[in-house]
Amino acid sequence: MEKSRDRAKIIIVDDESRFTHSVVQLFQEEYETLSTPVGTKALELIASEQPQLILLDLMKPGTDGHCLIRKIKQNQDITDVPIIVLTGQSSTSDETESLSLGAVDYITKPFDREIVKARVRTHIELKRRNDLLKALSYQDGLTGILNRRQSALSLLMIDVDRFKTYNDIYGHLAGDDCLKYVVLTMKNRIKRSSDLLARYGGEEFACLLPETNYADATVLAETLQGAILDLKIPHKGGIKGQVTISIGLAAGYPHEHHATNYLLTIADQCLYKAKVGGRNTIRGFSGTMKTEDQHSVSGTANDW
Ligand code: GH3
Ligand code: MG
Ligand code: MG
Repeated sequence: MEKSRDRAKIIIVDDESRFTHSVVQLFQEEYETLSTPVGTKALELIASEQPQLILLDLMKPGTDGHCLIRKIKQNQDITDVPIIVLTGQSSTSDETESLSLGAVDYITKPFDREIVKARVRTHIELKRRNDLLKALSYQDGLTGILNRRQSALSLLMIDVDRFKTYNDIYGHLAGDDCLKYVVLTMKNRIKRSSDLLARYGGEEFACLLPETNYADATVLAETLQGAILDLKIPHKGGIKGQVTISIGLAAGYPHEHHATNYLLTIADQCLYKAKVGGRNTIRGFSGTMKTEDQHSVSGTANDW
């Protein structure tokens, strides 16, 4: 994938640049990282770059940091970007103030690298989920008239199988290329302009299909899965020795406001079942069915 467009972006805002280097090092492999001193420039950079996360790396807690958090939260374009405060001198009042202004997390140095990484990962995932929900509800708005006529809506959650191992074996750059082929292949199979394919996480994609019922969504899911198999990208650590995808499918007749949120949760659960069920497989659920009617769509194992 093109790094600048597809890797999550973190902006590190600091008040003492000599410490920032180590924080940048911590994240630069996994994310695109940019750094800037605290101040008006920081706000401009955040607004123009639209990062997925802001790390406020402050030696001295207090006014400058609080001021920046306040300004970010007041700016509609960037108010949703999560802010984690990293500080060298903690105080309970500073922590309370930062959190009440809208920071999502507060970490005191010296910190454990793995813990900071895990927290950053979590907040980036949450941000992606929120962004996707927004995109989906916008799409829902576009199809609103159809939805009022009880038109079906389906959502696929698609995840590349054993992709961490792929990177481990073939390297991250080969991994990027592989993802590029996977996305291109899926795009070519998703023909209607109303269908939305969005990157959800690193190697995870969401596909929203307006006016598509369970049966039709299943056909598309099977098409996508088959198309990825047809690519025959070798993967020694993969299923069948090649790159494969697993898909969770949720279908429903949304007339409620939170329909997309509901679909996302269900599709996520189905994807999990597909993984547990052996990968390179599809698990689906139709919201119009009763719970006991949940069933497997395809694949080798049925663990419902
Ligand atoms: P599973 O079959 O359960 O999905 O296993 P997995 O290894 O695919 O899942 P896991 O979530 O453990 O790992 C996902 C990996 O995808 C880890 C991460 O390094 C890699 N990844 C995410 N985004 C990118 C990217 O843009 N490029 C590359 N090369 N790798 C990426
Ligand atoms: Mg995966
Ligand atoms: Mg994944």
